This record gives sequence, C-alpha cells and structure tokens, in this order.
Amino acid sequence: MPKAIVIGSGIAGLASALRIKKLGYEVDVYEKNPYAGGKLHAIEKDGFRFDLGPSLFTMPHYVDELFELHGREPDAFFRYSRKETICNYFWEDGSRFSAKADKDSFVRDAAAAFGEDVTNLESYLEGNRRKYDLTAGIFLEKSLHKASTYLSPDTLKAIARLGILDLNTSLHKVNASRFRNPKLVQLFNRYATYNGSSPYKTPGIMSLIPHLEMHFGTFIPEGGMHRISQSLYELACDIGVRFHFEKEVKQILTQEGRAVGIVTNEGSHSADIVISNMDIYPTYKKLLPKLPHPKKTLAQERSSSALIFYWGIKGEFEELDLHNIFFSEDYPGEFKAIFDDKSLAEDPTVYVNITSKDVPDDAPEGSENWFVMINAPGNYGQDWQALKRDARRHILQKLEKCLGKDIETRIVTEHVLDPIGIEDNTSSYRGALYGAASNSKFAAFLRHPNFSSRIENLYFCGGSVHPGGGIPLCLLSARIVSDLVPQPFLKKEHA
Ligand code: FAD
Repeated sequence: MPKAIVIGSGIAGLASALRIKKLGYEVDVYEKNPYAGGKLHAIEKDGFRFDLGPSLFTMPHYVDELFELHGREPDAFFRYSRKETICNYFWEDGSRFSAKADKDSFVRDAAAAFGEDVTNLESYLEGNRRKYDLTAGIFLEKSLHKASTYLSPDTLKAIARLGILDLNTSLHKVNASRFRNPKLVQLFNRYATYNGSSPYKTPGIMSLIPHLEMHFGTFIPEGGMHRISQSLYELACDIGVRFHFEKEVKQILTQEGRAVGIVTNEGSHSADIVISNMDIYPTYKKLLPKLPHPKKTLAQERSSSALIFYWGIKGEFEELDLHNIFFSEDYPGEFKAIFDDKSLAEDPTVYVNITSKDVPDDAPEGSENWFVMINAPGNYGQDWQALKRDARRHILQKLEKCLGKDIETRIVTEHVLDPIGIEDNTSSYRGALYGAASNSKFAAFLRHPNFSSRIENLYFCGGSVHPGGGIPLCLLSARIVSDLVPQPFLKKEHA
C-alpha cells in the first residue's frame, strides 16, 4: 500500500488525510500540537467554552461530503443548523440593522433601513451571483496552475466576460458606485475581511462573498465550531488514519527530485507522497531550506491577523445574536492602520460572536461567552502589550456606547489571543488568518499551487495556498490535492 505523510492537522490537513486514505494510501499525520484542528481549536475557562478561531461557518456541504466519501451519515458525527439572521450591525449614532439570511427579507429590510432602491439592491445581489457562478468552478475548485484549467470551456467563458468580474476596481468602488448610503457601503465593504483584505484594495470580484452567505447560508454546528475539526478527526481515526501528536516536522526529505519522507523531532519517516498543511512560508524556509524558493509568492503581502478577547460575560443581551458587528466611524482609517501602518486604529470595528445564543451549554446560566475580535496587522515586532492595552479600552468604549450598558464590570473571565499567539499555535507566518492578502487582482495567481513544480510527489494544502483561507477554501484545497496525487489503485482498476 502506498504511504502518504500529512504535515499538520489543520482543517485542510484533516480533509486531505481523509481523501487520500480513500484513494488507498496508508496515511500518517504528524502534528506539532497535542491536538488536531490547528486554528479550529477551543478552550474552556471558568465554566465558559470558547472557540479560539473561526466563528463563521458557511458551505457545510464541503464537510458533509467527507463523511459521505467514507459511507458515513454526516449526522452521526456532526450536526448543524441554519441561521436566520446573518449578522446584527451597530453604529455609534444608534442605528442598528439586522441582516436576514433570506434574500427577499434582506432586500426589503435593507431598502427600508438605508433608503435604497429595491431593484438596485436586487441587481447588485444578482451581479454577485453571476460573479460566483462564472468563477467558482475555475478559481476555487481546480488547480490554477495546470494548463487543463485554462483550456476548459468554463475558463474561456469567464475570460470572455472578464468585464463583469470588476477586477480592475476595488470592492469599495464597486459598492460606493452602487449605493448612496455610506452605512450600506460599509456593510458590503466588510466582506473584504472574510479573506483578511482591505475593501479599499481588494478587487471588486470580492462582492461575490455576500452571495455565498445568502445563497448557501450561515450555520452553527451543534457543540460549536470546534466540532468541525473534532468530528473530522474522529472520522479519520475511525477509518485508520494514524495521528502522531507533538511531533514537529523539521525537514521534508527529497531524493533525486522526489519527496521521500520527513524528519521529526524523533527521527525520519519515509513516504511515497508528502502533503504539507503547514503555512507555505515556513514550509519553504524551515522544511525545505535548500530548495530554490518562489520569491514572489513568499514575498506576498500577508492577510490581516486578529486580536481577540474571550470574555465570560455575566448577564444576557437580548439585542445580540450569534454574529454582531460594531462598526468603526472611520473605516478607511482602520484599514490604513492595519495594512499601511501595521498598527491598530483608535476606533476599530468590533466583532462579537456569542455561541451560547445557540449552544446554551457554552456559558453558565444567565451568562454569555463573548468572542470579541478586531482585525489586526500581522506580527512585525510591534509592542503588543501596549497595543492590547489600548485596544481593550477602545473596544469597551465602543461596545458601551453602542449598547448603552456597562460591559467591563460584567467580565467574569478573560483570555486573550494576539498575532504572536496565532503564529505560535499554528506556525502561520506573522499570525495571518488567511495566508496571503487578496489586496491586488494578481493575488489569486501568486498563491502557491497545490503541488511543487520542482519536487515530485510533494503537495500543499491549507489557507496559505490555492485557493485561499477560510474553512470552505481550505476544504477545497484538500479536494484539489486529492485530484493531483498519484492514484495507483484507480489506475489499476482502469488498466
Ligand atoms: P491551520 O489551522 O493553520 O493548521 C496548520 C496545522 O499545522 C496546525 O495544527 C499546526 O500546529 C500544524 N503544523 C505547523 N507546522 C508544523 C510542523 N512543522 N510539524 C507538524 N505540524 C505543524 N475561517 C472561516 O472560514 N470563518 C471564520 O470565521 C474564520 N475566522 C477566523 C478567526 C481567527 C481568530 C482565526 C485564527 C482564523 C479564522 N478563520 C476563519 C480562518 C481559518 O481558521 C483558517 O483559514 C483555517 O482554519 C486554516 O486551516 P489550515 O488547514 O490552513 O491549517
């Protein structure tokens, strides 16, 4: 039986292991942490449970298909429910907007709240759908780095209709040219942060992201986000994938232009194929130091990172739901601080995620588990102690102003994660949440391919390579890898 080694058990590493096992490989996963899941991890503190990383779950069918691939009922491992409210939005002037997942309700409510025209909103959302339909099959589901992708009829169709993709303008310009109300522009600009980018730099094609939320919906897993990685880990154990925790990979072994194994802190292990789920930057710098590096790819601007306060809060807030956003009064200034000044704005946009709204066991009765996050620059050696101290004060000011309630005195427990912590936990270069930023129209093409063009049988999955960061794209990277690896048993069957 051919042997595969997967380096790292992030969501893409888990999904790759599951897919490669199905192809008939013996699979060993080497993970530096004592747990599986990478960024999809959780902690418990003083009776509160907090998801440490992702909080927004879209396109759950990419998780379901991994269970189905192995003939299992997804429900037996992993259940989730669809949210009716996408997000509650708050501004300092007292305005509030509750965005419904149902498209018609959203259009009706947004037209009324922001004084916009229903037809204009509908045609904007329809344009977003067209962008997604035209590009998903090419840019997300296949390797961008194989000639066959470019020769397909879908690609030729997309090239013929490049104009509607808004590649030459920014997301902000697309939104500002469409809507008069700056609050609605800000609401749609926010989607740039879903891949850690700035709405003032990321291309207009990113307006396809709200389509994903409205069309595919947003979901909350039973037991919280951590169930995504845990249920996949359970399935992987069930089907015989072997996990080796606290085994940091130090080197990828190559011989005559082929990957032949790895070296961990305990010795070397051979394999027929190696798949790295480690961030592509340290994969080259640490595991393949002698190999020529793809300089342009590794020099790409990194996506934003985050500063997160996990607060156990005494009391319940009726006006809040699972996802809540408290907008900055100076949105351009916030992104300038993050991407140009590598600092934090004095008036940041604050995201509050409360899973105990849907998963009551996540907090003691009469309390809520708040995941309070602001977007942050990567770690460039800033004074994070000072930045965290100031950010905590600014966040509390904003929340107290928008909610008209004292928050600080209700905090009964606290845990903090900053870009240094994110980098330490997962080796994500500079603590980036999504690998490289998508702050230019070329970013997608500069992302590293899912295979090595120099070393045979070496593959890459995860948020720092094609097609990008976030749970759905990481799961797609695993699917692309499983299409690329040698398929010995399949070949035999067809011989
Ligand atoms: P990672 O999760 O980065 O895992 C890589 C694994 O490799 C880790 O387990 C690490 O320990 C291991 N590893 C690294 N180096 C080695 C080595 N040398 N040897 C062995 N093991 C190694 N996405 C969403 O879809 N929705 C969200 O709401 C969302 N919010 C986020 C909020 C935060 C705070 C963070 C941090 C991320 C968020 N993301 C979100 C992004 C999402 O978490 C990531 O894109 C995704 O989880 C990355 O998965 P991955 O497979 O690339 O690997």
